[in-house]
Amino acid sequence: MISDVTASLNKIRQNIQNSCMRVQRPADQVQLVAVSKQQPMDKIYAALDAGQRLFGENRVQEAEQHWAPIRAQYPDLQLHLIGPLQTNKVRSAVALFDVIETIDRPALVDAVAREIEAQGKALFCLVQVNIGREPQKSGVDPDELPALLSYCDKAGLVIDGLMCIPPFAEDPRFYFQQLRDLADTHGLWQLSMGMSSDYEIAIEEGATFVRVGSALFGDRD
Ligand SMILES: *Cc1c(COP(=O)(O)O)cnc(C)c1O
Repeated sequence: MISDVTASLNKIRQNIQNSCMRVQRPADQVQLVAVSKQQPMDKIYAALDAGQRLFGENRVQEAEQHWAPIRAQYPDLQLHLIGPLQTNKVRSAVALFDVIETIDRPALVDAVAREIEAQGKALFCLVQVNIGREPQKSGVDPDELPALLSYCDKAGLVIDGLMCIPPFAEDPRFYFQQLRDLADTHGLWQLSMGMSSDYEIAIEEGATFVRVGSALFGDRD
């Protein structure tokens, strides 16, 4: 089981390099976010042993369970929040995470900006865009992105890039291109896009973070 994680990690790293080469991007422009939600600790340890230091979690409480006890052992660990954030969890989220990828509304901007200031923490933020305009999905509507970005600016919350989850079972490339165009328009550099089934396409379209869970750790509990 543990050697499975090591083998998958090596394969994914190789695929990332190959995808970068296909489109002549430097391989160090793309970082693998290992999505450890709903995975057992032995698999997480296997990834750590194989040198992986960047992990993604979609729930604050579960992330605390996974990482709070061992965080001190891995000073170079980087944790990304990739799931929706409620304002009453912002304090814990800012304390635990290095990057919040899911800024999507003014109330959250205010809460995160306030908490970053209160904790004196260096933290990066991305705005999640509901790129397929799906009613059930979180993320800001693409039409409302400019307004949200200027809101962030006024609130003093620095935004480094954009994140999206394209509609399920549709060609993701079109949506990845749209997200990249939005980022270009607003002069944003980081692009978090691509999951187990489509991270290679996302890299071809400019992803700087790919979020891979099941292809690395196997099916979730
Ligand atoms: C779970 C999750 C992933 C990883 O999905 P896989 O298909 O298992 O790679 C990526 N991004 C987000 C936002 C997720 O919630």
